[in-house]
Amino acid sequence: MTDPTHSDGGWFPLSVRLDGVRVLVVGGGEIAVNKIRLLLAHAARVEIVAAALNELVAAWAAAGTVVHVAHDATEAVLRHAMPGCRLVYAATDDRAVNRQVAAVADDLNIPVCAVDDPDPSSFITPAQIHRGPVRIAISTGGAAPVLARRLRTAIEATVPEDTAVLARYLRDRRARVVAACPDVALRRRVWEAFIDGPGGHAARAEDFERADSILDAVIAGTEVTGEVWLVGAGPGDPDLLTMRALTLMQNADSVLYDKLVAPGLLDRIRRDAELVYVGKQANRHTMPQDEINSELVRRARRGERVLRLKGGDPFIFGRGGEEIEALLHDNIPFQVVPGITAASGCASYSGIPLTHRDCAQSCLFVTGHARADGGLDLPWDRMARQGQTIVIYMGVGALPALCAELIAHGLPPDWPAAVIERGTLPDQRVVEATLATLADAAKDAAIGTPALIFVGEVVRHRVISPRPAFRGVSA
Ligand code: SAH
Repeated sequence: MTDPTHSDGGWFPLSVRLDGVRVLVVGGGEIAVNKIRLLLAHAARVEIVAAALNELVAAWAAAGTVVHVAHDATEAVLRHAMPGCRLVYAATDDRAVNRQVAAVADDLNIPVCAVDDPDPSSFITPAQIHRGPVRIAISTGGAAPVLARRLRTAIEATVPEDTAVLARYLRDRRARVVAACPDVALRRRVWEAFIDGPGGHAARAEDFERADSILDAVIAGTEVTGEVWLVGAGPGDPDLLTMRALTLMQNADSVLYDKLVAPGLLDRIRRDAELVYVGKQANRHTMPQDEINSELVRRARRGERVLRLKGGDPFIFGRGGEEIEALLHDNIPFQVVPGITAASGCASYSGIPLTHRDCAQSCLFVTGHARADGGLDLPWDRMARQGQTIVIYMGVGALPALCAELIAHGLPPDWPAAVIERGTLPDQRVVEATLATLADAAKDAAIGTPALIFVGEVVRHRVISPRPAFRGVSA
């Protein structure tokens, strides 16, 4: 989770209301034109101080679209022109003049933007995407404007044009829904159900009659009932979350998460959802499983939509089965969302295929978690076979015993094996060895958890991208 006390600068994004509001622009050339255009698009009353106006600005002034209030940006003129303005833009091509404008505005406590000069500025204009009343602003706090523009391009492509129609529709129905559902939690559900469902589609398609009747039905039919979403968060890289996981992370009231859920994933959760850590560490259970089960039931009964976020896939060594049994027993509605299991994530990000035409026709997932007395209950005869891959979860603690048993049950000591620590995360490490040498090699490398063991000839088929990939296979 991002540490709220850690700051990359004090640039705080806000939307400022500008319709009918006075804004002073100092400058009448090309730099000023861009800002004036943006301000006019937001219905501001633009006043200009500039010695010379270019053709376009002169035409705006002649038409009364903007007001040319003064020529020289002297301190006295600025002190006279600024009061009553909500914002000031210092938009000349002379940085010294812009800084002087900024100093005066600062002195008068009026927010000022010196164009392309974050230092003296008290606000900056972010890169923006407009969809009707929707504004998506991307700001790097002046750190990297080109990066902000690249992100804008990427986001532009994903926000449909009809978002504008939908936003206007929702704005016009807001008062009606507030009146019909005074309860905030209920109202949030009405909007979510409407926006994500056929009503949202109808509104986007400008079929407002149909949208209205769906909205009425949603209002009439929505009640606060709790449910539990058992969601796989994948092995660590946030890019491996499913779309559904992301949606549910945005809709949840509370989130119960494990140790295995990487911090980068928690950043994707709705800001005001309650986060509850229920992680387990070997032999030290932060919250016993039956308490987790009853906590899920208790919260759902209270009407919460509870996200049970689990590392990897909930149904692979995730005790997901036990959790839904408890929910079923108490008649709590639930859904299960698969995640990329550690075996798949580690395989792809380390370049080791799980199966291979030449040497591995099957793949076995087993748990290497030892019993309390240190023993391992595993189907050794089925495991110690050639022609298959074994992936061992939770096996690092018992690694020496695991390797020794596999050799004792017939696999050759020089049989390939590997350990992958923190797979798919930026600090992923891979140790390649053989059954005879893996335990020592992992110890020498101080391999910790979480880590996954791969046994089989597929390790020899490991392929690493010739150039370091942006994401994915790496050493
Ligand atoms: N449900 C999870 C597994 C939970 S058991 C899944 O489907 O992946 C926990 C074990 O998973 C760990 O002990 C480790 O063996 C493995 N594991 C989970 N995340 C991992 C990761 N990022 N890298 C390596 N192993 C991981």
